[in-house]
Amino acid sequence: MDKGQIVLQESLENTFGCNVFNDAVMRTRLPKNIYKALKRTIDQGLPLDPSVADVVANAMKDWAIEKGATHFTHWFQPMTGITAEKHDSFISPTPEGRIIMEFSGKELIKGEPDASSFPSGGLRATFEARGYTAWDCTSPAFIKENTLCIPTAFCSYTGEALDKKTPLLRSMEALSKQAVRVLRLLGNTTVTKVTTTVGPEQEYFIIDKKHYEQRKDLILTGRTLFGAKPSKGQELEDHYFGSLKERIAKFMQEVDLELWKLGVLAKTKHNEVAPSQHELAPIFSTTNVATDHNQLTMEVLKKVAGRHGLVCLLHEKPFAGVNGSGKHNNWSMSTDDGQNLLDPGHTPHENAQFLLFLSAVIQAVDEYAELLRMSAANPGNDHRLGANEAPPAIISIFLGEQLTDILEQIENGGVKSSKVGGELKIGVSTLPTLPKDTTDRNRTSPFAFTGNKFEFRMVPSSASIAGPNTVLNTIVAETLSRIADRLEKASDIDSEVQKIVTEIIKNHKRIIFNGNNYSEEWVAEAEKRGLPNIKSMVEAIPALIAEKSVKLFEKHNVLNHAELHSRYEIHLETYSKQINIEALTMVDMAKRQILPAALKYSKAVADAVTAVKAVPSCDVSAQESLLKELTAGINAFYGSLNELEKTLANVPSDDAYTVAKYYRDVVFVAMNKLRADSDKLEVLVDSSIWPIPTYADILFSV
Ligand code: ADP
Ligand code: MG
Repeated sequence: MDKGQIVLQESLENTFGCNVFNDAVMRTRLPKNIYKALKRTIDQGLPLDPSVADVVANAMKDWAIEKGATHFTHWFQPMTGITAEKHDSFISPTPEGRIIMEFSGKELIKGEPDASSFPSGGLRATFEARGYTAWDCTSPAFIKENTLCIPTAFCSYTGEALDKKTPLLRSMEALSKQAVRVLRLLGNTTVTKVTTTVGPEQEYFIIDKKHYEQRKDLILTGRTLFGAKPSKGQELEDHYFGSLKERIAKFMQEVDLELWKLGVLAKTKHNEVAPSQHELAPIFSTTNVATDHNQLTMEVLKKVAGRHGLVCLLHEKPFAGVNGSGKHNNWSMSTDDGQNLLDPGHTPHENAQFLLFLSAVIQAVDEYAELLRMSAANPGNDHRLGANEAPPAIISIFLGEQLTDILEQIENGGVKSSKVGGELKIGVSTLPTLPKDTTDRNRTSPFAFTGNKFEFRMVPSSASIAGPNTVLNTIVAETLSRIADRLEKASDIDSEVQKIVTEIIKNHKRIIFNGNNYSEEWVAEAEKRGLPNIKSMVEAIPALIAEKSVKLFEKHNVLNHAELHSRYEIHLETYSKQINIEALTMVDMAKRQILPAALKYSKAVADAVTAVKAVPSCDVSAQESLLKELTAGINAFYGSLNELEKTLANVPSDDAYTVAKYYRDVVFVAMNKLRADSDKLEVLVDSSIWPIPTYADILFSV
């Protein structure tokens, strides 16, 4: 390495996490006893002594001020899906009329934001609207724009969760408890904690700001509500993994740097399938930290894009007819004694353990498929899931040929196949090593086993990953708890494990599908198997309050009846509001931009007809037929516009579900009709008159 490179590498090493109050900083800045006390709280969830909090707060403040911070904020994740912060400065007056910088343990541990304007789904009456934020010390504090940000959970005064983080933390605890039970019964005496880990792959679009600013739909709704298919789309697939354009490369470099400063392990970046689409993947971390980091990642992507005259679109479907964006949620479980519980491992003992945990996931996903589907529902994802695009709305699991084969053989009374070699009896020392699956990756599966983790591919690109992971953790906690219950009663653990695995495969193999998830045959086959096919968000949300779900979430102390019902209301209201904004934006653009342009052009054509007609020997048929086509297009467009306005005038005042259903079945349908009519006009009208940038302008200009 030359000297320049070494300097660069050293400075990168110093840059990484430079804005994070991480373990290394705590170790050097906190007195030993305080550090130890805090670590116990972080690692074991023990309550924190107030005197310890004071010392930690003071050290945090000194550190933050050295880094240029003047303010602190409790950083939280309300049900809006984005993060919220309210900044307070460190200043405190002295009697001499001067100031000192202060930050107390009390301020670190608890905040009281005025929370009346955050969605609560009726949980928090406005007269007691205070709500409070509580320090989540398992996710490190960090500095962003001269502000010390303290990750917090956000609750009502009576302790109900008003955010996305609280249930996530509760679900992690639930899973840990049940997984440890199972491991203990399998003879593990060292493990005390199991954490769920996540690496979310973030997809996004980057477009030029000058186009964005000319499109009210992008500004107000994050997606294009109009736009004809360009002559070139993604059919050549020449963008996927293509070399990065210079402007994009510079943008990505800065994104990496900003993320590294925040301790986010940004690792992989590449172009995606669609033009202007890209992906960023971090190295995985605990579900909690990964969730916080993904929120930061989305924020940084947007902010840095702005600095480069670009705009980052996180919407699931910014462009119709072009691949949408998702977030692949790579998920696994790992123990504090260093094992990945979804790693097939090398010894028979690990093998039995692996198969048991694998079975727990299979059973969980099959039994609670509706909940998982619900966790991936948002208005944007309706354009992907169930709309002939990746991934499909039907939940199924891809295991790969070899693993499926092994499970089938277990179901049929033991493995004898040469594919694996030897006889597979779980827990018996002659058990062969499970081979790493060598089959090709299945990219069409919504829930794929990828060697040592599951990849949940339905997660929406713009949403927090807290929801899906809360569901995943909780449903697997449930199946593990049932397994633990059985093992506790068993006299022979080995044979009971064998029985459990065999039973689960028998009862839940319908969820396993290794074929093409996009095919028509699969839709029919899935229906035969009795797998749910929930096509829209509105249909997906009721799963949240189904009796089965309430029982599940209450049993594991993740969400109670009231919290679930509040979330149900919030999700449905969010949907209705979002569609309403989209519809109003359409009406506005249709009336004030598209219609005037079409009329202007039809006038020009009408003038041409008159002008040509005036010349006796000229054939005016081309002009006339264009005028005819144009007029017919304008009439259709105008009719659809009126129809959409009518649907908006007739929104029922009813319960949240009925209203959302109306938006889905009536308003949304009218929007699609108006769009189709506009897109037909777009390809007729003179491009110099067309009032908004086209798909070709936007998608191929950066
Ligand atoms: P792919 O081929 O899908 O890109 P990678 O191995 O590169 O597979 O991993 C994709 C993502 O999965 C990365 O974010 C990675 O950190 C994450 N990942 C790897 N192992 C685990 C694990 N045990 N738990 C959670 N996420 C993981
Ligand atoms: Mg992947």
